[in-house]
Amino acid sequence: MPIVNVSSEFEAKVRDALHMAQQHQDEAYRFMAVEVPVYAQMMPDQQQAVAGGCPSCTYLGLWADRWRGFPDQPHGTIWLFEDGIRKQGGHLGEKVYATLLHEFEHALGRDHVLDAIKANKALGIRPYAVRGRCCGGR
Ligand SMILES: [Zn+2]
Repeated sequence: MPIVNVSSEFEAKVRDALHMAQQHQDEAYRFMAVEVPVYAQMMPDQQQAVAGGCPSCTYLGLWADRWRGFPDQPHGTIWLFEDGIRKQGGHLGEKVYATLLHEFEHALGRDHVLDAIKANKALGIRPYAVRGRCCGGR
């Protein structure tokens, strides 16, 4: 898991979340947890925020099918953002895990549906996707 300027606590939570996802009952999540590179980053840069469709939004995560400067991957690339996830408050590990599953949904083309929404609801998290392209894009 590549790391960009995040705290060691956040890095550990991302590793834990990936480990949990590798044991998820949903085979698609297990697959994504192995196949999709996940980067931990403090916050999106301006290009990422623009690509996500909302330059002024606080981002928890982002999925892109390809991104300049990163190797092309068959199922895209995911970033998890410490600043946005911490701003949600609550249990950091649970929020990281919910965000990771949410971004897997984007990688799977199941945007904002099914398990990620249920997981967020179970954790008391409002779906943060108020716009169709809020969390992914080029
Ligand atoms: Zn989303």
